[in-house]
Amino acid sequence: MRLASVASSPVRDLLALIDRPEVISFAGGLPAPELFDVDGWRAAFDTVLSGPQARRHLQYAPTEGDPRLRGQVAARMTARGLPSQAGDVLVTTGSQQALTLVAAALLEPGATVVVEEPTYLAALQCFAMAGARIVTVASDEQGVDPDALEQVFRRERPDLVYLVPTFANPTGRTLPAARRARVAGLAEQYGVWTVEDDPYGELRYRGDVLAPVAAYADRVVHLGSLSKIGAPGLRLGWMRTPAALRAALVIAKQAADLHTSTIDQAAAAQYLSVADLDGHVAGLRVAYRERRDTMLQLLPRVLPAGSSWTDPDGGMFVWVRLPGDVDTAELLAEALRHDVAFVPGAPFFAGRPDRATLRLSFSTSTPEQITEGMRRLGAAVLAAGNRTREGRRATVEFGRLAASHPRQHLI
Ligand code: PMP
Repeated sequence: MRLASVASSPVRDLLALIDRPEVISFAGGLPAPELFDVDGWRAAFDTVLSGPQARRHLQYAPTEGDPRLRGQVAARMTARGLPSQAGDVLVTTGSQQALTLVAAALLEPGATVVVEEPTYLAALQCFAMAGARIVTVASDEQGVDPDALEQVFRRERPDLVYLVPTFANPTGRTLPAARRARVAGLAEQYGVWTVEDDPYGELRYRGDVLAPVAAYADRVVHLGSLSKIGAPGLRLGWMRTPAALRAALVIAKQAADLHTSTIDQAAAAQYLSVADLDGHVAGLRVAYRERRDTMLQLLPRVLPAGSSWTDPDGGMFVWVRLPGDVDTAELLAEALRHDVAFVPGAPFFAGRPDRATLRLSFSTSTPEQITEGMRRLGAAVLAAGNRTREGRRATVEFGRLAASHPRQHLI
């Protein structure tokens, strides 16, 4: 059975531990709810349910998606340096579904998928569900190393490459333009389908906008989403489908759920035609930039000497590595005692995990909460150092905590 090989998400298990209101959480990869444009979305839903088309918006609809929304998505991609037509766009139920559809359309059991190390946990789960063999490729501060990728292509002859080239989850790293061009060139040269997962690309806090990898080659399936710039509860995403894959992906979508919610797509199309999404995203950038800056300013004061961390140009995450042979799962138990949380890095590795790593998300805490949360994290790091001398108590308590809480959402 496929499920047998798929572990439950350790991140999801962890989220169950941080629900207490007193915990300041840097764990969840969620957008800030106070920044949702509730009024704008209410107006959009009102309009589509009040007009003459209301009944049509409650009816079954074409698999490819709402034509108006597909055109608007294509125009946004074009404006961001990826020339696109409405016909290139397949609307999906979040970009997470796009990953499932790509896996369904392209992967036979035993197929080889190449991923960066570390990478997005739920993508790993999705490829594992499809029965794929995961191979990792070396990355550095600038994302995937094209030379290493070429070696993997030669050695493994993979079926698919999965990359998060812009403000990656979990590292926050971004692939520079020259590497994008090379990665795209390699995909063409070796005939390997490449998935460019891009839910964070519009959340840039400094530096110039980079053209997506898909702008350099036809071998790239580009995924986008309203989750981080609109609201994730809408579950609206899309993929820009290369012509050669379009029919297979549409069939996979049809088999999965016929189509994404008609009414939600209609509301999104309405929202995109009357609301100022670019203005809203500009506001998100200001708020998240301040949160990122607050966290990055405080990290040198709370982490032990010898720690290192990423300095992301955008997105939601800072990736930290602690010195020595620390296990951040044990540190999390101590952190929870200090009412602060993060995600240990190990689950994001497909190969041998680096247990001294952890992911911090700055998106859902105000600068004041980040300041207090960083103070607590510093205290937890100090206390964990002392406790290590007392033995392995932390691991035991972490296990007990995990067992006593129900599971909740997945990041
Ligand atoms: N890809 C990556 C890299 C993500 O971080 C996420 C969300 N955490 C997703 C895909 C899924 O996003 P969506 O809400 O669009 O399904």
